[in-house]
Amino acid sequence: MSAGSPARFGKKTIRDLDVPEGSRVLVRVDFNVPLDSGEVADDSRIRAALPTIEDLRGRGARLVLCSHLGRPKGPDPATSLSPASARLGELIGQRVHQAPEVVGPEARRGIARLDPGEVLVLENTRWEPGETKNDPELARELAEPVDLYVDDAFGAVHRAHASTVGVAELLPSAAGLLLEREVTTLRGIVEDPDPPFVVVLGGAKVTDKIALIERFLQLADALLVGGAMCFSFFRAQGHTTGDSLVEEEGAALAGEALRRAEGSDCRLLLPEDLVLGSSFSADAERRPLDGVDVPDGWMGLDVGPRTAAAYADEIGNAGTVFWNGPMGAFELEPFAEGTRAVAEAVAAAPGTTVVGGGDSGAALVKFGLADRVTHLSTGGGASLELLEGKSLPGVEVLDDR
Ligand code: ADP
Ligand code: MG
Repeated sequence: MSAGSPARFGKKTIRDLDVPEGSRVLVRVDFNVPLDSGEVADDSRIRAALPTIEDLRGRGARLVLCSHLGRPKGPDPATSLSPASARLGELIGQRVHQAPEVVGPEARRGIARLDPGEVLVLENTRWEPGETKNDPELARELAEPVDLYVDDAFGAVHRAHASTVGVAELLPSAAGLLLEREVTTLRGIVEDPDPPFVVVLGGAKVTDKIALIERFLQLADALLVGGAMCFSFFRAQGHTTGDSLVEEEGAALAGEALRRAEGSDCRLLLPEDLVLGSSFSADAERRPLDGVDVPDGWMGLDVGPRTAAAYADEIGNAGTVFWNGPMGAFELEPFAEGTRAVAEAVAAAPGTTVVGGGDSGAALVKFGLADRVTHLSTGGGASLELLEGKSLPGVEVLDDR
């Protein structure tokens, strides 16, 4: 597979962009990182932006970074980007300036004072109500003090916001190296995966992932289902599900997917055994179940060891693996085994291995396996929308090559 080949990326990247020394470049990054007591708890997304930041600094650009963090409805110190800019400063070994606002006189002053190679981080773009409305006035204020726009925030390109689309329309624009790698890798696995193509889907809700299920039933050789999602399938098959998480519309959608799987070339695998808990809690009573009929008073919180071994086997024999969504409630130690087994199998697999962001990414990081896969996506929602075949407004808007 030619994952990462620039051929399938029709947009300009920073390699194509003329960046005269001293240019002011606005870089949309994804610094939407988890915080813990005012510090960055996981800096993966900041590290992922370093190649683009270092490349542009090396060319003598004056860098202005912007990002959202969380979902504030206005200015809110708890969602300030200052922990992220402090962490970035440690990573690049140079002080990073933090503006107190997204746009306005102080932000403009900070930008005007930058020397070539220096970095200023604007405040959280969601502090501006115009951000999510793609307000043209906000886009104009973002564009006004800079010369060029680079988007390296894969996690945000599925949203048409002022900092992803509005501002890009006003400036010469290009993709950063992370955005290019994300798009080419993910398109690569749907467009020409090395067979057998094995997809592992888990997580909480079948409604979130039904479009992916439908898509992969057409593309994959095997689709392995785990997580709470499998109980919608079991309900559709007439099994008892006890107190397991089942969505209202889940069983109907799952039943439809089961019918579609019958007529497809894709094998759809469901768990054969489970781990039950008396409640959703780390100190719940835990009980293995050989089979999938969950009794009243119990909930299925993980796949069992036979299932984990069967799934690991499929993963080990795959040419290409895509994994999204944990196999169980992995945040609770007694119910993390199935997710751990899948994560280890993906890490050990000889084929191309791609993991969607979100909780499956968090699970990989937790098990210390994040650098053992071909690609760990930084974008949860964006990676799912790309794989579903939807267009990404933040990519579409960038200048063509
Ligand atoms: P991702 O972010 O990787 O796409 P999701 O957000 O869909 O994954 O789902 C992750 C959540 O699903 C986790 O919080 C996990 O606890 C939950 N989950 C997985 N399996 C179960 C289960 N059997 N019962 C309840 N919750 C589950
Ligand atoms: Mg999630």
